[in-house]
Amino acid sequence: MNLPEKPFQYKMLIDGNWIESESKERYERKSPAHDVPVGEYPAATVEDVNNAVATAHRKFIEGQWPKMKGADRAKIIGRVGDLIRKNKEELGYIECLESGKPITQAIDEMVWAAGIWDYAATLPYHTYGDSYNTLGENMLAMTIREPLGVVGMITPWNFPLLIISQKLPFALAVGCTTVTKPAEITSGTTIKLHELLLQAGVPAGVANVVTGSGGVIGNCLSQHPDISMISFTGSTEVGKKVLQNAKSNVKKVELELGGKNPQLVFADCDFDAAVDAVVFGVFFNQGECCNSGSRLLIQDEIADEFVQAVIKKSKTVPIGDPLDPKTKVGAIVSESQFNTIMNYVKAGEKEGAELRLGGKQMITKTGRYIEPTIFDKVSPEMSIANDEIFGPVLSVLRFKTKEEAINIANDSIYGLSASVWTKDIDTAITLSRKLEAGTVWINTFMDGFPELCFGGYKESGLGRELGHFAVEEFTELKTILMHTGPRDYWWKQPEK
Ligand code: NAD
Repeated sequence: MNLPEKPFQYKMLIDGNWIESESKERYERKSPAHDVPVGEYPAATVEDVNNAVATAHRKFIEGQWPKMKGADRAKIIGRVGDLIRKNKEELGYIECLESGKPITQAIDEMVWAAGIWDYAATLPYHTYGDSYNTLGENMLAMTIREPLGVVGMITPWNFPLLIISQKLPFALAVGCTTVTKPAEITSGTTIKLHELLLQAGVPAGVANVVTGSGGVIGNCLSQHPDISMISFTGSTEVGKKVLQNAKSNVKKVELELGGKNPQLVFADCDFDAAVDAVVFGVFFNQGECCNSGSRLLIQDEIADEFVQAVIKKSKTVPIGDPLDPKTKVGAIVSESQFNTIMNYVKAGEKEGAELRLGGKQMITKTGRYIEPTIFDKVSPEMSIANDEIFGPVLSVLRFKTKEEAINIANDSIYGLSASVWTKDIDTAITLSRKLEAGTVWINTFMDGFPELCFGGYKESGLGRELGHFAVEEFTELKTILMHTGPRDYWWKQPEK
């Protein structure tokens, strides 16, 4: 695959119209692997956000989308899944160019995202409440689920189409309208997705997209009085700002944040499978992954042999040009992310961890690549054991007993995901119940399905995405009480 001859030109979508920013300003995205411009975007202003929200609000109050039969919404959402599959090469190409992730992986992610739209298309049929027939013979009640209103969606750069697909189809399924702000450096596929939404039959103005700075337009969205909910995926630091802003009109907030996810490997594990999962877990997507298995907790008795095997395998993983279909690990997304990672490598060395592999920039003609990096003999107080590095850096901590393993695993502000590798059913079940994490994998890592909810404990998040639970996230519950028969009067007027 070749680089584009010139950068792709994008516009924002408001009320079904493709528009420039009201300021007419645009900004450029360069491929982090090739250093050439690959996309140009309007830099939205607060006024653009206000227009987008006003449109989504009008469509929610006056438009047909929230009132439409579930079956009709289902058909449209289902078509989006088909269109994503049809356009997977183009979408994957854009994502590879903007994010630096390998092309083969990027295309696979598009297919994965399409599957989420397929699943969400079943939910309009299943958006309902309860009925209450036990309130006495004169009373009958029901609870109904109504769409929340306008949902603002703010997404990060690491899995652009996949993450918006964990939010948008679910909000649309229940009848909400939306304004989406993708990460400024990887907005291409979110804009293309909105083209597909129009093609699939989502009415103009129901789903809108604005592009530009998080500090300006993300901030404005999270404060906006006509937005009923913010669905945010990104760092814990920015997530806290969103939560703070949301207080202004008590809007609902759903947060998918950072992680420092442990893989607990016991001496009785399937050795080769666990080695592969550890290598995959930390180097997949260059380690720029909320679910990154960035902490390996390894039982003492196999630690030396296991770490040696992880190092040996890591050395063979193909790293390089993300446009090469054989590449497994691509370029680091930005210079600032590159610097953050390299600073953690320095900190790890300074704090006394043993650097067993990598730790350096790879020498390439263009782009920024970091060698797969493994620190052994990391202790729990070190920064590389605690902070989300968001890069290809594995921290190895050793343990003797189950109790020690669980204490190390849970000694974190984060609680997104974890895994347990053992053939002992008792260890597997006991530990998975004790782990403070939104997802626990047993003898596997980073598998996911649209019907399984996803989210974090502690500072990894608030609320859940995916699965039937998403219906609850994007709806309000209304109680309706009905009286039948003669009323038992509060006050009976005296007869004259
Ligand atoms: P980030 O928090 O810097 O940015 C996320 C989004 O927020 C971007 O669109 C950004 O423009 C916007 N933003 C920035 N400042 C804002 C503000 N003041 N108000 C509102 N919006 C603002 O995160 P990132 O660097 O793009 O992504 C990496 C982070 O995302 C990591 O911490 C990672 O763990 C997390 N993440 C979590 C999940 C999950 O599902 N839990 C998935 C992917 C990524």
